[in-house]
Amino acid sequence: MDLRHHVRDIPDYPKPGILFRDITPLLAHPEALTASVEEMAKPFLDQKIDVVAAAEARGFIFGTPLAMRLNAGFVPIRKPGKLPFDLHSFAYELEYGSDELQVHVDGIKPGQRVLIVDDLLATGGTVEACLRLLEKCDAEVVGCSFLIHLVALGGEARLSPYHVHSVLEYG
Ligand code: IMP
Repeated sequence: MDLRHHVRDIPDYPKPGILFRDITPLLAHPEALTASVEEMAKPFLDQKIDVVAAAEARGFIFGTPLAMRLNAGFVPIRKPGKLPFDLHSFAYELEYGSDELQVHVDGIKPGQRVLIVDDLLATGGTVEACLRLLEKCDAEVVGCSFLIHLVALGGEARLSPYHVHSVLEYG
């Protein structure tokens, strides 16, 4: 199945000069959605993943079905003010300002094998912050799985030395 066919290009969104890869047509297509989850899971099927972790909001779309496919649990990584229990936090710089991600202290036990999932790898800032958070949990990060990798933005280098898997690459 040609998954690329189900990704819509939107020029100048959210601002002039940005070519936005819109995955909503793929999400709405039953076979494309199932094939996407299968392809994102494939390299990790025999990797004994304990937990899939993903950041809100679009990471949640693929994180939960991937966890089910890998017989793993799912742990949400969220913006401040959303999780009710004791937290690990990681603050990071954005182009304009800063942001913070949080996870429950008991969400991931030390040594658990974790796969990080997101819809798309751009600059790598979001998943790099997830990695730092999981390192605070003493998790064993097995890798990161994306549907789309925007290669020209160089995000993969920020995720080194972890294994980065993506289904569709755009130059
Ligand atoms: P990064 O932190 O720069 O790697 O950005 C990744 C996050 O931004 C992902 O969670 C995506 O949901 C979102 N994102 C950035 N660019 C695009 C795009 O072209 N299409 C869809 N989502 C995008």
